[in-house]
Amino acid sequence: MERTILHMDLDTFFVSVERKNDTRLEGKPILVGGIGDRGVVAACSYETRPFGIHSGMPMKMARNLCPEAVVIRGEAGIYSKESKLVSDIIRETVPVFEKASIDEFYADLSGMDRFCKSSYQMADELRMRIKKQAGLPISFGLSANKLVSKVATGTAKPDNKRKVDFGTEKEFLAPMLVKKIPMVGEKTSQILYNLGIKHVKTIQEMPMEMMSKVLGKNGVVLWNRANGRDDTPIIPFHERKSISNERTFGKDTGDSKRMREMIRAMGENLAYQLRNGDKLTSCISVKIRYADFNTFSKQLKIPYTSADHILIPQIERLFDQLYNRRMMVRLVGVNFSDLVNGNYQINMFDDSEEKLNLYQAMDYLRNRYGTDDRGNSIISWGTTLGIANIASMGNPFNGEPPIIPAHRNA
Ligand SMILES: [Mg+2]
Repeated sequence: MERTILHMDLDTFFVSVERKNDTRLEGKPILVGGIGDRGVVAACSYETRPFGIHSGMPMKMARNLCPEAVVIRGEAGIYSKESKLVSDIIRETVPVFEKASIDEFYADLSGMDRFCKSSYQMADELRMRIKKQAGLPISFGLSANKLVSKVATGTAKPDNKRKVDFGTEKEFLAPMLVKKIPMVGEKTSQILYNLGIKHVKTIQEMPMEMMSKVLGKNGVVLWNRANGRDDTPIIPFHERKSISNERTFGKDTGDSKRMREMIRAMGENLAYQLRNGDKLTSCISVKIRYADFNTFSKQLKIPYTSADHILIPQIERLFDQLYNRRMMVRLVGVNFSDLVNGNYQINMFDDSEEKLNLYQAMDYLRNRYGTDDRGNSIISWGTTLGIANIASMGNPFNGEPPIIPAHRNA
């Protein structure tokens, strides 16, 4: 069946938000990221591109390449707020959409044409509404599937639109470099390059079996993508529910120290699951059930994050506000919701490369050594050592499409 899929991506999102709040930044080279010695570029304006600057680069190097650039320490809270504003505008027009990352959205417009206007016109009106109401530049691609639409958005940028007609997907992709296909990273593109494969057209002309011989299962996916085929569904935003952990104590307890340790361990475990699935949360909730079965919960909206050092203190604060009756407790629980795709990048602003490295090292060890024979995590922060772990360390997000970092297309 023929589908019509819209992909929208805010242009240089962090930079655009900064410009929205300070119009003097218009037209100037801007670097957003950690400003300390070991800071990293999280986003850069188009004016910095001719200097060879890209996101993920050490800030120090970027400053050397473009000394006249304005350097701004990003703030996750402001970006989260703007991202939600854009989500709300989209929701008014398209009730079912996927929020692929903090600045990227998909919507299924299949069958819309029959009713009022064409899907292209509809997408264009939505783009203009976002520009006007949110004050942020955004580009879109429209085609038969997510993959081609995403690539189309990339070719439209900045601040523009691109439609790829049904049946022309292959010729649209043919002249592009293979690395333009989402999922082709440095490593794959090097393998392909070594095989003399530079352009998508070459893959299109190869038999699928050959790709599968070289790259295995990924080769088959890649071959299909190179041919403009992709049947990945839209994952509606509201269905991307939440992850949670709760535990009923073997015996009701009044030991607040033990309860705190427990919810801390839960938070740690959930945050790890987020990072493992390249997800961020923006809503924490904590639950207590007293011995008389009365249950109370409290939630808190926060800027998107997956970092323990941000999440756990908030979980403890919620718990302290909740636990106010002089009664034994039967159950405690922690829940993260409002999940979107995204990685550490959003927390790069506090100049804590060491901290990010520490997370990565801990997560690596968890992945490698996992759990003991009772299912307890072997690796944890000192404060929760000794607490039996609450859930398996698996990735709850398996089966979802590969995660594209938010800055991939700027
Ligand atoms: Mg973007």
